[in-house]
Amino acid sequence: MSRVAIVTGGTRGIGEAISIALGDAGYRVAATYAGNDERAAAFQARTGIAAHKWDVADYEACLEGVAKVAAALGPVDVLVNNAGITHDGTMRKMERDGWDRVVDTNLGGCFNMCKAVWEMMLARGFGRIVNIGSINGQAGQYGQVNYAAAKSGIHGFTKALAQEGAAKGITVNAIAPGYIDTDMVAAVPKHVLEKIVARIPVGRLGQAGEIARGVLFLVADEGGFITGSTLSINGGQHMY
Ligand code: NDP
Repeated sequence: MSRVAIVTGGTRGIGEAISIALGDAGYRVAATYAGNDERAAAFQARTGIAAHKWDVADYEACLEGVAKVAAALGPVDVLVNNAGITHDGTMRKMERDGWDRVVDTNLGGCFNMCKAVWEMMLARGFGRIVNIGSINGQAGQYGQVNYAAAKSGIHGFTKALAQEGAAKGITVNAIAPGYIDTDMVAAVPKHVLEKIVARIPVGRLGQAGEIARGVLFLVADEGGFITGSTLSINGGQHMY
């Protein structure tokens, strides 16, 4: 029986590439999204992968959503916490709400989803969790105290949960992407993006599929000795 995977934010951008790569590799995949019904419907029609709508920042919604996926596909073997948002602003301009939304979605969502699958994974003695962090959680970024804090938190969360899962067959790893060509990066002003690309040794933005390759590597059944690690995929921009 093939393994069951949930990819949060799995209908667009990096998450879409991860969902497709897992599906192509034989996993039974459920992709989640927050509100963009049009893109989710197009994704589902194109890939045949079911798209489920719930907010990862909503704890109860995560428990209910995961229970529905498990009822449809079976217990969850693989969780990829990919859903994330930015809401940038310097400290002078950032409102409390912008802090809360980014931390609750990126970091709170990671807790909520891990909590929802954890007992399932413990009961079966197998689990693979990959949390999508960011180069900006490793190095910081001007105008992103909320996002950098949330992503940095993901890296700490990963190492802590990895210790709890290690003797139980559950691995917990992170990927720290650099700048990847998705809608999120398209929102960065052109002149800022040009400066960013100029600092990437490989000389270009990354592609979503290049992150998906890392996920496939980490979630493989053979990956039981890789846990608590962070895989940086950033074109050599920040070596950490
Ligand atoms: P996109 O903005 O292209 O896609 C984000 C996805 O997450 C969408 O499917 C979106 O759903 C979903 N999502 C957002 N908020 C929620 C929520 N509250 N609940 C459920 N789903 C949600 O992002 P990227 O593909 O660019 O980024 C994916 C991940 O990679 C994020 O965690 C991001 O922080 C991280 N990352 C991205 C980098 C980049 O350069 N692109 C660099 C480093 C890290 P909907 O379609 O409904 O809005």
